[in-house]
Amino acid sequence: EFYKKPQQMLRQRSFMEQLSNIGVIRDVLSRHGFTFSKSLGQNFLINPAVCPRMAELGGAGPGVGMLEIGAGIGVLTAELAKRADKVVCVEIDTRLLPVLDETLAGYDNIEIVNADVMQVDLSALIAEKFAGMQVAVCANLPYYITSPVIMRLLEQRLPIRSITVMVQKEAAQRLCARPGTREVGAVSIAVRYYSEPKMLFQVSRGSFLPAPDVDSAVIRLDVLPNPAVDAPPEAFFRVVRAAFSMRRKTLLNCLSGGLGIPKAEADSLLIRAGVPSSARAEQLDLEQFASIARSLL
Ligand code: SAM
Repeated sequence: EFYKKPQQMLRQRSFMEQLSNIGVIRDVLSRHGFTFSKSLGQNFLINPAVCPRMAELGGAGPGVGMLEIGAGIGVLTAELAKRADKVVCVEIDTRLLPVLDETLAGYDNIEIVNADVMQVDLSALIAEKFAGMQVAVCANLPYYITSPVIMRLLEQRLPIRSITVMVQKEAAQRLCARPGTREVGAVSIAVRYYSEPKMLFQVSRGSFLPAPDVDSAVIRLDVLPNPAVDAPPEAFFRVVRAAFSMRRKTLLNCLSGGLGIPKAEADSLLIRAGVPSSARAEQLDLEQFASIARSLL
C-alpha cells in the first residue's frame, strides 16, 4: 500500500482522505502547473492530524456555517465541510480554482469565493451565504496579513461566535498574551477588547509544504457579545496605540507623544483616570486603558 504511486492511490480512494498526503498534493499541483507564491503566504498543510483537530476545536458542526480564509488545495475546507452545514472560503489566488474544483468535487456544501479577504464585504457575505446559521471562522492564515485579518474580523462586529486560526507561534503568543506580562502589546489588548483568546495547540514547521522558517500555533478567539470594557472603540484604540507607541518609555511619555498632547495634559489625563504616570503600558489591565479612554472624551 505504502509504496503505490499517488496516481494509483487516487484511483482507489477518494481525494477526501488524501488531501494532506504529500505525494497526492505534489501530484495534483504539478498536474495543474501550480507553483507556490511566497508573497501570498502559501504554505499548505501536509500533516493529516492538524485539520480534523482544527475543525473540531473551531466548532464545525451541525447548524453551523464555517467561513474559511485561504483554501490552498482544500485540506481544511474538506474537514470543515464534513462536519458543518456549509463552508464558504475566500481565496485570492485564481490559479487554485481549477485545483479546488478537482480536490473538493465530492462535496456539495462548499463555496469558494475568489476575492481578497481584506477587500471583500464580510458582513454582506455572511448575511448572504449563512442565513439562519451560527457562523464561525476557521483558517490557516496567510502569515503576511495575520493581525490585519484578525482585526478586520473583530472590528467589524460580525455575527461570528469564534475565530480559530493557525498563525506563527510568536504571533499566537502576542495575540493571546495577558495584560501585565512581558509579551503583551497593542494587538493583545485589542484582541481582548472584543474576544477571549485561547492558545489551542502548536504545529511544527515540518507540517507544511513548503516548510516555513518558524513554527506555528492554533488559537481560538471566542467573540464577546459586547466589548470587554466600557469605552468607545475609537478612544480606546487611540489610547492603546499611543500607550504602546514607544517600548520601555513611561505611559506619560507615550501618551504625550502618541496622542500629540503636552506632558502636563497627559499627566492630568492619567490623574483623572487614576493611573500612575510612571506606569508602563504592559503593566495596565483593560479597565485602566478604558478609564484613560473615558477621561479623553
Ligand atoms: N488552508 C490551506 C492549508 O491549510 O493548506 C492554505 C493555507 S495557506 C497558509 C494561505 C492561503 O491563503 C493560500 O491559499 C493563499 O492563496 C490564500 N491567501 C493569501 N492572501 C489572501 C487574501 N488576501 N485573501 C484571501 N486568501 C488569501
